[in-house]
Amino acid sequence: MSHSKLAGIFNKDEKKVDWHDKALWFVRHKRDLSVHEVKGWEELRNLGHGIKAHTLSHLDVYLEQFEANALKNGVQVHWAANGDEHNQIVHGILKENHAKKVVKSKSMLTEECHLNPFLEANDIEVIDTDLGERIVQLAKEQPSHIVLPAIHKNKLEVDELFQEHLGTKPCNGDPQYLTGEARKHLREKFIHADAAITGVNFAIAENGGFVVCTNEGNADMGAHLAAVHIACMGVEKIIPKQEHLGVFLRLLARSATGQPITTYSSHFRKPRKDTKMHIVIVDNGRSEQLSRPDFRASLHCIRCGACMNTCPIYRRSGGHSYDATIPGPIGSILSPGKDLTKYSTLPFASTLCGSCSDVCPVKIDIHTQLYKWRQIIGKETPQPFIKKKSMAAMGKIFSKPSLYGKVGAVAHWALRTLPKSLINSWPNIWGKTRDLPVGHKQSFDQWYKERENNKKDDQK
Ligand code: SF4
Repeated sequence: MSHSKLAGIFNKDEKKVDWHDKALWFVRHKRDLSVHEVKGWEELRNLGHGIKAHTLSHLDVYLEQFEANALKNGVQVHWAANGDEHNQIVHGILKENHAKKVVKSKSMLTEECHLNPFLEANDIEVIDTDLGERIVQLAKEQPSHIVLPAIHKNKLEVDELFQEHLGTKPCNGDPQYLTGEARKHLREKFIHADAAITGVNFAIAENGGFVVCTNEGNADMGAHLAAVHIACMGVEKIIPKQEHLGVFLRLLARSATGQPITTYSSHFRKPRKDTKMHIVIVDNGRSEQLSRPDFRASLHCIRCGACMNTCPIYRRSGGHSYDATIPGPIGSILSPGKDLTKYSTLPFASTLCGSCSDVCPVKIDIHTQLYKWRQIIGKETPQPFIKKKSMAAMGKIFSKPSLYGKVGAVAHWALRTLPKSLINSWPNIWGKTRDLPVGHKQSFDQWYKERENNKKDDQK
């Protein structure tokens, strides 16, 4: 389904749209307050951008360096070309270790590879341990935001969900009670887990270590209790040096939630005594994106979610309207790279206001890339007949000032005199959700010329 149709479904609940919008704007505002406290924030962003650009242009070198160091540390390293390979590798490790119960901390990569349904189909229990992720898992939904996966659900909905699945008492959405119950439920799962899966925020080439950032400590709980730790990372998570963490950790937390640092920045380097540690390095379309000069910088993304929090479209259409693992502005750049036809409507889900690029901690030119996708999609995918014809006609009109003036006069006349029902009839797709202004009797051009003439007359 197109983005606009799915957004239409979300928009039916006006109250929800309102608090969704406000909740995300609140996070954006917190981000602003937090970054304004950092002297040299722009320099930090430039540095983040530069390190990422350098790393991506030497990706092979740094990935191999990381592998060699991780192997030296006693970590087993696996390479997956795509999601299927990733899932097979993870399943193979679990099978080898007779693991039937798995706890997973938030990892958008495993969402992207659809790991949960794959493992469940192979008779393995997977429990998402990030609270927001657990909520959407119980609701059998996808995360709607990369940092706030259940932001589309209010506390009353969570109350009902927990009553149904965790047997809690009705509490009118009392957050303290609900979090306490979730904690009890998850502790049980942590204690009995055979293996833990985590994502990776940053993998350090020079020492083979990696860092996982959470606010709930769930990655640590899982990885420190289970006998097997599997960390899954996209190839773009690599950074050259430990000292670069100082740049990215500061950028990430402030941009994501306005915190100076995430509550837990857990550093992993080697397996504990009598345990195993595996790293699965996944491509899944990233090399292809790297090969597109116009879109290469999208791989700089450190998954802070700031572009979603600020986007007027995302805030009012909800993450599920993107029908993709990564929603919002950055998702609308990454998804068409995977399937141009399926995700052809996403780059159009933007006002191109540029707010996403302004807040992006690693200075990705998000709105420029969205605009570039539009040009490609217009040429390479089937467009609705009316849109195609009307855009071609508009192109001709806009390129000839005299024609533009004449058509404008007719349009203003029509907007002044014709009934709204006719103006907003079916060929006018815009009219479904927008009221066009009342037409003017005089065009800007006529008004300007008249003013200049009056000025001349006054000077005489
Ligand atoms: S594109 Fe930038 S703002 Fe958006 S999630 Fe990635 S790093 Fe954050």
